[in-house]
Amino acid sequence: MAVIARRRFLLGAAAVSWSAAFRARAAAAAQLVVVGAGFAGSGCALALKRRLPGARVRLIESRSRYYTCPMSNEALVGMRNLASLRIARGHLAAAGVEYLDAEVAAIDVVRREVRLEGKGTLGYDRLVVAPGIRFLGSALQGYDAYAAQSMPHAWEAGVQTQQLAQDLAALGNGATVAISVPQGLMRCPPGPYERASLFAWYLSRRRRRCKVLIFDANNHFPRQSEFVQAWSELYPGMIEWIAPQDGGAVTGVDARRGRLFTSSGTHRVALANLIPPQAPGSIAAATGLSTGHGWCPVDPTTFASESHANVHVIGDACIAGAMPKSASAAASQAAQCAAAIAAALTDREPPAADLTSVCFSRLGPERALAIHGRFTVSAGALVSTPATTAASEDSDPASAAAWYRSIRSECFAD
Ligand SMILES: Cc1cc2nc3c(=O)[nH]c(=O)nc-3n(C[C@H](O)[C@H](O)[C@H](O)COP(=O)(O)OP(=O)(O)OC[C@H]3O[C@@H](n4cnc5c(N)ncnc54)[C@H](O)[C@@H]3O)c2cc1C
Repeated sequence: MAVIARRRFLLGAAAVSWSAAFRARAAAAAQLVVVGAGFAGSGCALALKRRLPGARVRLIESRSRYYTCPMSNEALVGMRNLASLRIARGHLAAAGVEYLDAEVAAIDVVRREVRLEGKGTLGYDRLVVAPGIRFLGSALQGYDAYAAQSMPHAWEAGVQTQQLAQDLAALGNGATVAISVPQGLMRCPPGPYERASLFAWYLSRRRRRCKVLIFDANNHFPRQSEFVQAWSELYPGMIEWIAPQDGGAVTGVDARRGRLFTSSGTHRVALANLIPPQAPGSIAAATGLSTGHGWCPVDPTTFASESHANVHVIGDACIAGAMPKSASAAASQAAQCAAAIAAALTDREPPAADLTSVCFSRLGPERALAIHGRFTVSAGALVSTPATTAASEDSDPASAAAWYRSIRSECFAD
């Protein structure tokens, strides 16, 4: 009996080690495709290659030049130049990631294929979709191509950042600048208020009697009391926040006459920075990854799409519970998603999610404000837990600069 039992045990152990070896070989040969090379996609591609060195990891990006949104508000007011925000892609190859300059035109989730515009198709075992956002300008009456150009949002860094910087520089004494904040989920929730701070700093040093109006479609904003306190100390009387009940929600525009329409009437301003409502990048919607309310639902531990098997959605495009739509959140999701994919391919449990985010807002040359978040899964959703960092280190703009260098290296190997 003892001999038979021992033989069964040995056979069982051999089967286990054979199947473990088989799974390891399959994982090593896995075809992994990532759509979108922003913080989420590029960060995930690098993390996948680190975890599965033998896998083929292909990263597809349609924009020939990618500039980071983080620090782009500084570029608007000359604290840095646009070139300093450009990401170089050359280091990806050294890390083993294949970078393809192409647009994903369609995804066939049944055949597990990605079709590239004019460049053939790629098969995948696992697909990560990280297309960022698209703008829903049509939600605003009168918002057309002319409005998009003459009231630049600069909520995607690049040409619009340059345009808005030029428009700001061209303002004269007594000018009123408007920043319009859309209702609902958006990229970088504290971003408009950092921008208002920097506009006020810039104008207070170069012009007289200028005002910055924030037309807000939301009842409150992140770290509102700290921002308002800083504005009263640094730029007294210059920045005015207009809540929705006071006519803060912009419903339409007449860009040719420089006018904004709200429930409180028509407002004529010298410069309008109109940030339209947002939704996930078009490819997510076209693939059926987003739901009726717009964004893409995912499993909060693996970032697997709730709509399609073997597809994951990360970054601004996904619904990540309490996590803000930020670069740091995208980087944290990228690492978690890569770990979950590596675990799935080797038949292991995914690690528990312990995710973070940090958004720095520059209030002026000497002052910054950081918003830290830490997130775990509870009752099937990502919820906030108390953050860990001491607030005192974060009022120093040097912390923001150090964070920026570190996230560039983590997500882009740049
Ligand atoms: C003014 C401003 C300041 C900000 N400051 C901060 C900050 O200080 N800290 C912070 O954490 N976050 C900040 N953010 C937010 C941050 O920029 C975003 O949250 C982050 O870029 C999201 O990363 P992502 O990879 O999801 O999207 P993206 O960075 O937009 O990348 C998505 C990429 O996918 C590509 N793509 C889309 N569709 C396709 C397709 N079909 N085929 C191929 N490629 C495709 C796009 O071209 C794009 O390059 C700021 C944002 C703004 C606007």
